[in-house]
Amino acid sequence: METVKCMSDPYVVEINPYDLNKVPYGGTILLQLPDGLKQYSGRIVECLRKIKGDLRVVVDASPTYGACDLHLDTIEALNPDLVIHIGHNMYPRKLGFVANADKAVSKTVFIPAYSSLHIGQDMLDRLARTLLGLNARKTSILATIQHVKELPKIAEYLKTRGIEPVIPEPLFPEMERGQVLGCEYSALTTVDNIVDTHILVSGGDFHYLGALLASTKPVVKVDPYTSKITADPEARDKIIRKRYYKIMKAFDADTFGIIIGSKTGQYRPWIINALRNTLKSEGRKHIEFIIGSLTKDSLLNIDTPEIGAYIVTSCPRLPIDDFAEFHKPVLTPGEALMVLKRKLDRYLFPWF
Ligand code: SF4
Repeated sequence: METVKCMSDPYVVEINPYDLNKVPYGGTILLQLPDGLKQYSGRIVECLRKIKGDLRVVVDASPTYGACDLHLDTIEALNPDLVIHIGHNMYPRKLGFVANADKAVSKTVFIPAYSSLHIGQDMLDRLARTLLGLNARKTSILATIQHVKELPKIAEYLKTRGIEPVIPEPLFPEMERGQVLGCEYSALTTVDNIVDTHILVSGGDFHYLGALLASTKPVVKVDPYTSKITADPEARDKIIRKRYYKIMKAFDADTFGIIIGSKTGQYRPWIINALRNTLKSEGRKHIEFIIGSLTKDSLLNIDTPEIGAYIVTSCPRLPIDDFAEFHKPVLTPGEALMVLKRKLDRYLFPWF
């Protein structure tokens, strides 16, 4: 069945009418969009009504940061016939899943929103010059979901400039070729030892920061929104130094607080159990906490004098982006393992 283009600018959003077959006449759709796309909900609602006629569409007003958070409570309360989650593909199941998320996932359609911005010739030229300045002969090319469609074009151009491109496959089938998430950089790490540089097509610094932490090679950021190419050879060292400071501060903690996530894709028993076993075998104590959204206030609320450091097993970006200034070390699972095993030679991000 042919898809219907509900939006073409600044993002391309296409709906497959087949997906709406699950919705009976007059049925209910819950529409979820990341905060940056919520302003376009009117266009999407109108488009859905054009495709399917009389429909009740309810826009989820709560913040949506990723497909790891499908708002299970909202889905259970509204009991829609279909959830349309725009802007992300499905969160890799193997990374984490709450037990009762299956019902919500089975009625959810994930629809990417591809950016309509294109990397023009001027940016391609500047990118090639930057890479040649870094003596790159072989490079990976990566992107956030919005920009993955640009990767083949960049690859073709780099070949004409004598640079060998690789668009690597992530480890998880839910993700697209060359795609990274804020907590999932397997596309980068699987080729890190065979490339000289990584290119990341992404707006803002969130994914760039993660790529710096996951990589041992220079990362060149291509920002389609500002047309800027960033290649700071010091950037990785700066952020890694800050993280090692936190790691060292956690070395003497006797008791660790383990933060468990209750959002649909943020419950990770494989990490929680490994940490509990390692803490026990290394003679450290722990207290477990479970929460949906971890904020500074909620962490202050649960803080006890015994706890010397926290390990966040829900979203591994929280320790880096939100809790870097907290008065006690707040670590990712990878960093916690470095502390517990006293192995500092290789920085582990974000898992182990
Ligand atoms: S980085 Fe955090 S918010 Fe983003 S997908 Fe991963 S767990 Fe979810």
